[in-house]
Amino acid sequence: GMTEVRTSVRIRQAVTSLPSYVPGARPGHGDVAKLSSNELPFPPQEAVVAAMTRVAAEANRYPEMTGEGLVSALAHRWGVEASQVVVGNGSVALIQHLLDTVCDQGDEVVMPWRSFEAYPICVAVAGAHAVTVPLTSQGRHDVPAMLAALTPRTRVVMACTPNNPTGAALSAEELTALVEGVPRDVVVLVDEAYLDFVTDPSVGDALDLLPHHPNLVVSRTFSKAHALAGLRVGYLIAEPGLASAVRSVATPFGVSLPAQAAAVAALGEEVRAETARRARLVVAERERVVAALRGQGWEVPTTQGNFFWLGVGDQAAALAGHFAQAGVLVRPFAGEGVRVSIGTPEENDRVLEAAAAWSAR
Ligand code: PMP
Repeated sequence: GMTEVRTSVRIRQAVTSLPSYVPGARPGHGDVAKLSSNELPFPPQEAVVAAMTRVAAEANRYPEMTGEGLVSALAHRWGVEASQVVVGNGSVALIQHLLDTVCDQGDEVVMPWRSFEAYPICVAVAGAHAVTVPLTSQGRHDVPAMLAALTPRTRVVMACTPNNPTGAALSAEELTALVEGVPRDVVVLVDEAYLDFVTDPSVGDALDLLPHHPNLVVSRTFSKAHALAGLRVGYLIAEPGLASAVRSVATPFGVSLPAQAAAVAALGEEVRAETARRARLVVAERERVVAALRGQGWEVPTTQGNFFWLGVGDQAAALAGHFAQAGVLVRPFAGEGVRVSIGTPEENDRVLEAAAAWSAR
């Protein structure tokens, strides 16, 4: 669908024709499993909540403008220089800033599709043109086709690994082929929002390629494994020159005081150990649920995220409605399929029950 714009004011044409981003429904009251936004089903850890509570009384003051404390904690965590890290109001904001940094009117951005629905919106807002490259039948990035889509106007090539919503992740070989196939004046943006849930050892991490590829940008977030979606903190890692250009575009004070404090606390050793334990729990549940669904006869593509994909085509809306009846909120993509997040074991049991009832109906 399109975003509807009604105003007497003259609006940029790129804005009046934006595709709409329909967020996962927020449950009202009652017993509803919210599995529509790939969040962690557990609340933030106590130490993280305590860290933001501590700074709450200082909220009359601005936070650090570019999040220096958080930036240095991230640099230390990932073995890069602070000059390579940019933090922002969620990774979506940073993706927008990056596109605003490198795209001129009419430039092209190559992206896999179906992928994260915010991408085409960010591209259009930047005044650029999205060149979508269909996924393979397994829901994987088609790297040769993505490289073949490059033109002299291509400014950015995007990758999403694991891919939202199909769950497929790029192997180290695929990632290398992608990065090495793109000229050095074109950005390769690798969105690793779901990297913490990857268990397949053949899957690559773009951070490993960064030292040799000054045009590579890695995007990550505190919204998923760190259970802080409500705080809005994401970050980019890139070569210092590019990072500095993005920082100059980014909203000043883009990460709030409590969000900076919480994210720093989330990087503490003990908190990280518990975060990793929770991610393992989610992964174990993912494997259990996918195996059970396949046992019920569903075709479920292999997933490395905290979600899975049911490519039911034009039954998407009906299937989402069926899940809603069973108290499970999922994300339908009209005509394509339904994405379901992994929840608590009890929520996942409800998913399996509803899925079985759909097959038996
Ligand atoms: N990238 C991908 C692939 C996502 O699926 C999401 C969340 N749906 C995001 C980024 C957004 O992350 P953030 O909350 O950091 O803006």
